[in-house]
Amino acid sequence: MIHSLPSDTTNLRRLEQNTVSVVTAKPASVERDDTLVKLPLILQTSLDTRQLLRLFDEQIKPLLAHSGLQFTHPDNKFEFRLGSKRHHKCNYQLEIDREYLGQITLSRAYRFSDSEIHLVEDLLCKLVYPLRNSLQYARALDAALTDTLTQLPNRQAYKNTIEREVDLAHRLRLPLSLLILDIDCFKKINDIFGHQVGDETLCRVADALFSSLRRSDALFRIGGEEFAVVLSHSHHEAALLAAERLRLAISDLNQFNIEQQFPLTISIGLAELCVGESAESLFLKADEALYQAKFAGRNQVVTSRSDI
Ligand code: GH3
Ligand code: MG
Ligand code: MG
Repeated sequence: MIHSLPSDTTNLRRLEQNTVSVVTAKPASVERDDTLVKLPLILQTSLDTRQLLRLFDEQIKPLLAHSGLQFTHPDNKFEFRLGSKRHHKCNYQLEIDREYLGQITLSRAYRFSDSEIHLVEDLLCKLVYPLRNSLQYARALDAALTDTLTQLPNRQAYKNTIEREVDLAHRLRLPLSLLILDIDCFKKINDIFGHQVGDETLCRVADALFSSLRRSDALFRIGGEEFAVVLSHSHHEAALLAAERLRLAISDLNQFNIEQQFPLTISIGLAELCVGESAESLFLKADEALYQAKFAGRNQVVTSRSDI
């Protein structure tokens, strides 16, 4: 059964089998439910979706016995679970003004009564606006860390990641390598074929690099025609293999017919993190190695002198 509970703009769609029935929203009685009054204020305190759902779960527990809460939002690739899943479920699709906000499921070992279902719906009406804010906030954060042309994580995302990975590598004494990649003579592609072909080339290069990496390797567009790859758990020998694979993936690219007149290649600088070294120093080493690769004729990988 699908129960719909339309309030002015909020739409909760209860998902069970396949018929539709409309249930009228009941205003919560203040006597019965102090929580319903306090809940919006408490939920306003966090813009983090996970924290928001934790707060919601914590606040509704005294009112409504349940053993598990699950929330999914496929568009935001977001999935969150609290407690343990049980057979009896209260499952809702959440919407405001036709904006899909995800699906939430409360579950437990015995069935929910009709009055409990009404209560769940009242509680969910308090959740939807803070939830929409938190999802919008997550999207804004995501956009701030994404390059609009290639859709790769951008320079700021690189900075965040490398700081975290360097910390982790030092703490757990794990190897870490960095590649800085730069398309060779890219300016000529723009000059000869125009900026739009230049943009398309950047996207093709980004796709080819992405498909040639392992899932655990992180690829970033850190500048115009410059990319970085953070290779966690990798010594420079393993990083060198990855770098060669990337270099070949680009020289193999069949970019329209451009490569007949203008071969598309990349140069790569490689550096491995030393004991106690900072993220900036690692970057400078890889960048210096990239400069050497350019100087030595381009279309090659050069390892930082300190790693040889
Ligand atoms: P090198 O082999 O020494 O790296 O030569 P290069 O021509 O690749 O390097 P240079 O730094 O001289 O030129 C980089 C060019 O990249 C210049 C700039 O117009 C172009 N570029 C930077 N960002 C973009 C972009 O987003 N789109 C396009 N189409 N071109 C870009
Ligand atoms: Mg450059
Ligand atoms: Mg270049």
